[in-house]
Amino acid sequence: AARVGVLALQGGVAEHERMLAGLGAAPVPVRSAAHLVGLDALVIPGGESSVLDRLLDVAGLREPLLEVVGGGLPTLGTCAGLVLLAARVENPAPGQGSLGVLDVTVRRNAFGRQVDSVETWASWRVPGGPDRIRAAAIRAPEVLDVGPGVEVVSTMAVDGVDRVVGVRCGAVLAISLHPELTGDLTAHETLLAQVRSDAPALTR
Ligand code: GLN
Repeated sequence: AARVGVLALQGGVAEHERMLAGLGAAPVPVRSAAHLVGLDALVIPGGESSVLDRLLDVAGLREPLLEVVGGGLPTLGTCAGLVLLAARVENPAPGQGSLGVLDVTVRRNAFGRQVDSVETWASWRVPGGPDRIRAAAIRAPEVLDVGPGVEVVSTMAVDGVDRVVGVRCGAVLAISLHPELTGDLTAHETLLAQVRSDAPALTR
């Protein structure tokens, strides 16, 4: 089975572990650099990105994570995980940084309360997958712009306007949404498919 690390510092860890196990993968909680050794893929779950950013230093995980994700380890970031991966963060908490491996600008907490309270659909444009996914957004980040080489794979209509909620670059996939709340397996299946293909390394 694919060994899939789940960053286990804070946030929706157990929910992602259950989804991965349900897909036949072996979830591995990642709390220190040693836990990154031998992984086939990684999930950075939702939670609170400013807290996660701080805990990366406490756990000594910042540089080791940069190395493995930048080196091409297939990675899925959800919600706060997207914020943590992003190169540029708007509306950060005081002192908040990020890993910066994904060439996108995100705005934290970009949607209003109405969006938080409804489950809807978002488009999905990864070849071989469905053409839409279930979407639950909770104080979700929005992708405001993407650099060259970053592909928009998911958008969600809010008040008739399509907003970017999913991007992919190399082996890194990141979405604003909470698949662990809707049970939609598409993003995790996409991650596991990436394990089986040759993943290009990100350049940073
Ligand atoms: N707004 C949160 C943040 O920036 C993300 C919320 C979430 O992961 N549900 O960390």
